[in-house]
Amino acid sequence: MKDVLKKIKDPYLLFQIERVSSFHGYLSTGAFIGIQMLNIAKRVLAADPGEQLYVTCETFSCLPDPFQILAGCTIGNNKLRVKDHGKMAVLVNKKAPDGQKLVRSIRIVLDPEKTSKYPRLHEWYMKTGKVPHEEAISVLIDVRESVYSYEIMDIELPEKPEKSIALCDKCGESFVRKNGGALCLSCMEKIGVLKE
Ligand SMILES: [Zn+2]
Repeated sequence: MKDVLKKIKDPYLLFQIERVSSFHGYLSTGAFIGIQMLNIAKRVLAADPGEQLYVTCETFSCLPDPFQILAGCTIGNNKLRVKDHGKMAVLVNKKAPDGQKLVRSIRIVLDPEKTSKYPRLHEWYMKTGKVPHEEAISVLIDVRESVYSYEIMDIELPEKPEKSIALCDKCGESFVRKNGGALCLSCMEKIGVLKE
């Protein structure tokens, strides 16, 4: 991998790679794609350095980690959502200005029509062959951000549901009640009201 990374001249990108590699455990192709997607989002949304972003990743695989360690979007602070749709795509937005519901956002996808011009990268993407991360990342470094497609849209932020804390009628534990039920979600699951 070291030889592949030597091709990168941008010190900031190298810094990002270093942080993501130690957080994720190693530099996977998906993690590298996440870095590129984050950089596209920051540029297109004209985010100031340090400005808070929100992201929805459309897969659990790799993509969330660059956003967690580089952009501070975490599961715990609710700025990272994951929709496990198995897609190499992210939706990124800034914080809505005070009093506004509409917020500018960008959805970025690794575009198979574009990766098809690069057989080894495409093979990695479509899982039609064994392509080592080094090789796929090497292609991504060469072609830069040309294999992504994105659209910009104004999305309406969902209303926050009313929340209250209640004690469960069955187990007695406290839980966040979102819609007036008397039982906690785990008890409802146990009695088969909720199917996982
Ligand atoms: Zn309960």
